[in-house]
Formats: sequence, structure tokens, C-alpha cells
Amino acid sequence: MDFKLTEDDLELKQMARELADRRIYPRAMEFDEKEITPKDLIEECAELGYFGFVVPEEYGGLGFGTTSFVGVLEEISAASAGFGIMLSVHNSLTCEIVNQFGSEVLKKKYLPQMATGERIGAYCVTEPNAGTDVASLATTAEDKGDHYLINGTKAFVTSAIYAGVLIVFAKTDPEGGHKGISCFVVEPDWEGVTIGAAEKKCGIKASDTREINFQDVKVPKENLLGEIGKGFGMALTILNLGRIGVSVQSVGIAQAALEEAIKYSKERKQFGKSISKFQAIQFKIAEMATRIDAGRLLAYRAAQLKDAGEPCSREASMAKLFCSKTANYVVNEALQIHGGYGYIKEYPVERYFRDARVTEIYEGTTEVQQMVIARDLLKD
Ligand SMILES: Cc1cc2nc3c(=O)[nH]c(=O)nc-3n(C[C@H](O)[C@H](O)[C@H](O)COP(=O)(O)OP(=O)(O)OC[C@H]3O[C@@H](n4cnc5c(N)ncnc54)[C@H](O)[C@@H]3O)c2cc1C
Repeated sequence: MDFKLTEDDLELKQMARELADRRIYPRAMEFDEKEITPKDLIEECAELGYFGFVVPEEYGGLGFGTTSFVGVLEEISAASAGFGIMLSVHNSLTCEIVNQFGSEVLKKKYLPQMATGERIGAYCVTEPNAGTDVASLATTAEDKGDHYLINGTKAFVTSAIYAGVLIVFAKTDPEGGHKGISCFVVEPDWEGVTIGAAEKKCGIKASDTREINFQDVKVPKENLLGEIGKGFGMALTILNLGRIGVSVQSVGIAQAALEEAIKYSKERKQFGKSISKFQAIQFKIAEMATRIDAGRLLAYRAAQLKDAGEPCSREASMAKLFCSKTANYVVNEALQIHGGYGYIKEYPVERYFRDARVTEIYEGTTEVQQMVIARDLLKD
């Protein structure tokens, strides 16, 4: 495969880098401390079309492919991984699922407002007792003739407080295991939806994470997304794109940490010279940069396969597995290069160290990626 980005994609990436350097990076520590993504930044990015990246033009989006999107997401995540995951979940999971599986009625009803950022998407799969084991989810959607009635609790919902659209997975056949899961578009201001308190997290603090409770929430029949009982397969299909998103988020964090480490190693003097002159530091930098490049190639390969309409489940999992581990390796080494200063908040590497950790957890843990890859390799 040819991994070169097109001129247009490079230009989009460069524009995102400029925006990130000017508007996001200088305020990223403030977002982290206040645990918010500010409205003005959301609005600015919405005006640039960042909330409608993968939404077709006929529904008001930019209609770009995954490869164009991931270049931008990498740059935004390098400046603020917390804001990056909002864009990733919104585009890769929620807009994409409505676009791929929604009826014409649902697409017309929601995509135009999602594309402009008026309705930010949140993805509600995980429950307090159903994480990796998605098939065991306990939220139910009962068919009441002219509507469905949803009851249950979702955990760890990214962007819950900002959301205007909730993509909710629930059992329409509680005895049916994974074949009993269906998917619905729910609006957060409908009666019976309660958004919980913000989770206090270790990292990506600019991202909002909450529980959402659904009690006797009436959902119109037309808000069933895709076919009844097909929700599990839809969740897996959509997760491919989500995993590519987390891969480039990881690459972004790692790249930012590498750049800080290089800068610091040139400035910091010990034994009368810059620590960058020591081979021990040079070897760390070489190893960090090499792993980042390898991760970026895996992520962009998966994105290109997705755009070509080819199967990319194994490649998306390989990218997520490698990039998230790389991010954690790189931030650890970057912090080490900073010595004691890496451990205090004055230097951004402390934030990267906290932000990287979650990339091995959400959208399928490291162990899940290994399972997906091994299953694919070992199938008959
Ligand atoms: C900040 C944050 C944001 C999130 N955002 C969202 C969101 O927007 N929407 C959403 O639906 N979810 C979201 N999640 C949830 C996330 O996807 C889950 O946390 C993740 O899937 C793991 O589920 P769990 O936490 O219940 O862990 P568990 O499934 O309980 O796993 C615990 C450990 O056991 C391992 N394990 C489990 N099963 C197996 C197995 N069969 N073989 C080997 N090892 C196994 C896991 O890998 C893990 O190490 C978010 C989580 C976080 C932390």
C-alpha cells in the first residue's frame, strides 16, 4: 500500500496543527485543571466542519474519508487528548453509525445537526456490569406497539454532558444473548433520561465522562437504528473506526511527548553539557521516534483500508494495540528524560503521562485487541 497522504490531506493536517498550536495547546493545562472542554473551542471547531468530517455533504458534512479525518485527529489529540476523544467519538462512532445504519428518516433528522456540532454524539454501550462482555448488557428496550421503552444504566459515557444525541444499545430480546441487542437514537432531554455526576479521572480530564440512567424512556419506533437484533454486529463494525481514532489519538499524545522530550533534552544541562549529548538519552529518543512512526503507519494503513471498503478489523486492532502501548512507552520515557521536572505539572509531559493510560482501556482493552487479532489469524 501507498502510505503517502494526499496533498489535500496533508493540508488539512497542517491546518489542524496550526489551530492546535494557536488555540488548544496553550490552554490544554487549563482544560485539564478545570475538567472542561470550553464552548468557544467546540464552536470554533464546529465552524471549521470538524463535527461533520465523515458526514456526507448531502447531510451537511464535509464528506471526507477516514484518512483525512485521522490526520486532523492526530494533531488535535497532540494538543489536547481530552478534546480529541470528543471529536473521535462524535465522528467515528456516532455520526458513522447513523450514516451507515440509519434509515433515511433518521439521517435527515439527526445528521445535519450532528454535522454542525449542534448535537454532539455520545455512545452508550458499557454498563456497570457489562464492559468487555458487551453481550451481557442488561439495559432493555421493550416493544410497546407504537414505541420502545428503555430501562437501564450506561457507564463511562464520553461527552455525556455535552451530548445532543445518545446512541444506546439495549436488549430487545433479553434471552437472546448478543443476538438480542438492538440500537436506538435517544435524545438526552427526553423524559426519564438522567445524566449522572462527572467521573473524576486520572487523565483526559478535558473529556467529560458520566453514567446515564434510563427509566421508562419512550423512544419512537423510527428511532430504532438498523435492524432489530443486529446491534451487536453494528457495534463491532463501528468500533473499527473508533479504534483507528484511538490509535491516532495515541500517536498524537506520543508525538507531543517526544517533541517535549527533545526540546527539554537540548535545554537541560548536566555535567557541563546538554543531556541530549548523552548516548543513553539519544537511544531513548531514537526508540521513541521509531515506535511512533511504526504506530502511525499501522493507523494510517487501517484508515486507508477502511476508505477502500476493505475488511480492516484485524488491522484496526493491530493499530490500537501497538499505538496505545507505544503512547504509554513514549510518555514514560519522555517523563524519564525530564527527570524530576517531568513529575510536576509545570511541564506538559506530566499530563501526557496521565492522558496516555486510557488508550489501552477504552474502545476495547489491550487484551481485547489481542483476542481480535489472534482470532482472525487462527480462524480456519
Ligand atoms: C475515560 C473512559 C471513557 C469511556 N468512554 C466510553 C463511551 O463513550 N462509551 C462506552 O460505551 N464506554 C466507554 N468507556 C468504557 C470502556 O470502553 C470500558 O471501560 C472497557 O471496554 C473495559 O470495560 P470494563 O471497564 O468494564 O473492564 P472489564 O471488562 O471488567 O475488564 C477488566 C479487565 O479484564 C480483562 N478482560 C475482560 N475480559 C477478558 C477476556 N475474555 N480475556 C482476557 N481479559 C479479559 C480486560 O482486558 C481488563 O484488563 C470508557 C471508559 C473510560 C475509562
